[in-house]
Amino acid sequence: MRQIEVAVSLPVHNTYTYLVSEAMAAMVCPGKRVMVPFGNRRLTGYVLGDDAREYPPDQLKPICDVIDETPMFPISMVGFFRWMAEYYVHPIGDVICEALPGGINPAESAVYEKVGDTGNPFAEKTGGLEKKILQVLAAGPARADRIAKKTGCEIPKNILLKMEKNNWITKRKKIVRGRTRHKMQRYARLSDTGEPHAKLSEPKTQIIDFLRTNGETPIDRLNDIVPRAASHVRDLAGKGLVEITEKPVYRDPFGDAVEPDTPPELTMEQKQVVREAASALGQGFATYLLAGVTGSGKTEVYMHLAAKTLEKGRSVLVLVPEIALISEIERRFRARFGENVAVLHSGLSAGEKLDQWMRIAKEQSMVAIGARSAIFAPFADPGLIIVDEEHDTSYKQENRFHYNARDMAVVRARLTDAVALLGSATPSIQSISNVSTRKFRELNLTRRIHRQGLPEVTLVDLRKQKDQRGIARFITPALKHEITDTLARGEQVLLFLNRRGFASHPVCAQCGAPQKCRNCDVTLTLHKKSNIYKCHMCGYFRAAASPCTHCGSNAIKALGMGTEKIEAAVRSLFPAARIARMDRDTTSRKGALLKILKDLKHREIDILVGTQMVAKGHDFPNITLVGVICADLSLSFPDFRAGEMTFQVLAQVAGRAGRGAAPGKVILQTYNPDHFAITAAQQQDFMNFYNQEIRFRKALDYPPFSRMLQIKISGKDQDKTRRHAEASGRLCRQLFACDDPKCRAVEILGPIEAPLSRVAGRYRWQILLKSASSASLQHFIRRLYFENNAHFGNRGIQTAIDVDPLFMM
Ligand code: ADP
Ligand code: ZN
Ligand code: ZN
Repeated sequence: MRQIEVAVSLPVHNTYTYLVSEAMAAMVCPGKRVMVPFGNRRLTGYVLGDDAREYPPDQLKPICDVIDETPMFPISMVGFFRWMAEYYVHPIGDVICEALPGGINPAESAVYEKVGDTGNPFAEKTGGLEKKILQVLAAGPARADRIAKKTGCEIPKNILLKMEKNNWITKRKKIVRGRTRHKMQRYARLSDTGEPHAKLSEPKTQIIDFLRTNGETPIDRLNDIVPRAASHVRDLAGKGLVEITEKPVYRDPFGDAVEPDTPPELTMEQKQVVREAASALGQGFATYLLAGVTGSGKTEVYMHLAAKTLEKGRSVLVLVPEIALISEIERRFRARFGENVAVLHSGLSAGEKLDQWMRIAKEQSMVAIGARSAIFAPFADPGLIIVDEEHDTSYKQENRFHYNARDMAVVRARLTDAVALLGSATPSIQSISNVSTRKFRELNLTRRIHRQGLPEVTLVDLRKQKDQRGIARFITPALKHEITDTLARGEQVLLFLNRRGFASHPVCAQCGAPQKCRNCDVTLTLHKKSNIYKCHMCGYFRAAASPCTHCGSNAIKALGMGTEKIEAAVRSLFPAARIARMDRDTTSRKGALLKILKDLKHREIDILVGTQMVAKGHDFPNITLVGVICADLSLSFPDFRAGEMTFQVLAQVAGRAGRGAAPGKVILQTYNPDHFAITAAQQQDFMNFYNQEIRFRKALDYPPFSRMLQIKISGKDQDKTRRHAEASGRLCRQLFACDDPKCRAVEILGPIEAPLSRVAGRYRWQILLKSASSASLQHFIRRLYFENNAHFGNRGIQTAIDVDPLFMM
């Protein structure tokens, strides 16, 4: 019998071998899901391929069923999944599960059934709940959740167990389909065998005639011809005259219609860049870093290269940071490539995501655009993988499975002999360093399309505003003056502050205690509009009228600021201006973000206040003034990338000014006017920033000069978590002390308490591993993990492995 290798949907690092019966052999191929026996239950598994591992066949079990008709992913992705599982030390089944659309796997669940008739002699003697359960089951078998709903009571497991033991009820295991399914459309067509029938009613005759001339038709559409077509069709099917079939349909996630466009003539610079990168297409693996100033026409370059890739019959994958940007890039790609574009992002419903996924898997769309998780788009043979705004930290996933989609784009390109193209106006230190070591090739766009210069950036020293009172400390005279001028010219203003809410630092006026979250080691933020104090880490909130948690006083000062406070201040300073705010609070409703962007585009907003959401890639030619309220908020984070992130967001937000015909201006307010991250942002010169930052990284042996891996340990019990972290640290040091040279090449820092020592009720500890060699780190963590299974399998403590960590907090 055929043997196949299966990754099961469980957090296990191994894959398993199963047999395939003759009857199913033809249906099984890599990328399909199967049901397999595992222990005493049945699970979903993913077929990776034939399995040559030798086992005595009597030790192997056959698969129970094949779930998919079409594979969920192509065979070429199996290697990619394996690579990720290995590199990130993550169970391969979980990697695949993370990749696929959610909610599609069947699950096994228990169904209960009543034994015997209703005159059960026991029923008299039983307590109320058992009686109720039997009453529910008298109507037919049901799952525990349904029993709970029908009885309106919680159903403890042991009651069911007891009733089962007493033989009042029986339990059966049943497979239930996943929540997310293909949407099916019902079609009608004339059957070949049915005899024409003389005595049909008028509507039925109409249907038959229509089907004769038009062939197979969705039943919904027949409703336009005769009312209640569905029931007529059912009758006709009963008579054998018509056949009904079901086919999957695709839900359309696109809202507005998009007008097709024609490519503009490229500028000389763009032409050169396209020529250079196009020459690498189809010539094996290569990675390019496209450093192009804001507004230099990078997207146009992407689209030209995409067209050249499609000409070669290969597909194109485009990664963009977040939903707002997807809609813009999506619109431009749709205008150019029409139906050939599929999108994948978190704004889609589960069903829409599955539809888009299948379009890609079946190669009905050859261009896929999406956020981070689109790196898993199931193309068999991508020829070009684009990562726009490659410096953006949203490519890093921080929960469940820690991976970086930007890095994986390069890996996937290597595995499929494709070209990876990373673009940014503010490339990451990592990528620039890869250019200097010749791992990446460099491409440059140095000029804005309409030959405007970059905006002029003026620094305002906030230390000199100390004497100003209230909001004048932050809307400084210089900024106020520029806003007034800009509004007078009928142009638009963008005000940026990297913190939402009204006041980020509420303090008790009586006892001085900062108002902290109940579950986290951070202060709450006052949100005036919703009238609550809210925790930005865990979502905990309490009424804005709540007294001090420390002394009970009601006098709480709203220190610290956020976008809400700036918005209020600007409203009072410029009562005639139309003002909007863009941050996570104002955009959580579906469509809200698009509405703001539309209003901005149609000049229905004069001043937009926002968080880093406004910094990202938008192209609004009428914005000529950008005000950075306080540039330093992220500069003091206890994170070695704090300077890099600050530089990037400032240079990006500055780049939003002056993209049209009129020149742009930026007012950059800061407490650190001499810090090189600030001065480099003022010059919008990433090489200047790089040259200074790289010296500091080298001195401290930080990436890109070393590789890092963080072990994140967290638990609800403070003492237990600390002890577990300390024990983990000892295991690391034991490994270091053994005479394995690869393990000796790893430096161990910690365990230390995380800078955010408690989040959502969990205490957090970290161990940082550092090494010049990625292979040594890999070797070390595997030995640590797999040789101390019992320790890291501790149920009360969570251990996450973060390879190439981006956030050290
Ligand atoms: P970037 O992504 O580098 O910030 P964009 O690709 O958004 O820049 O380009 C900025 C603007 O210039 C866009 O409105 C775009 O349509 C326009 N543009 C790009 N290339 C050309 C070109 N060759 N000719 C005319 N307009 C162009
Ligand atoms: Zn919290
Ligand atoms: Zn107090």
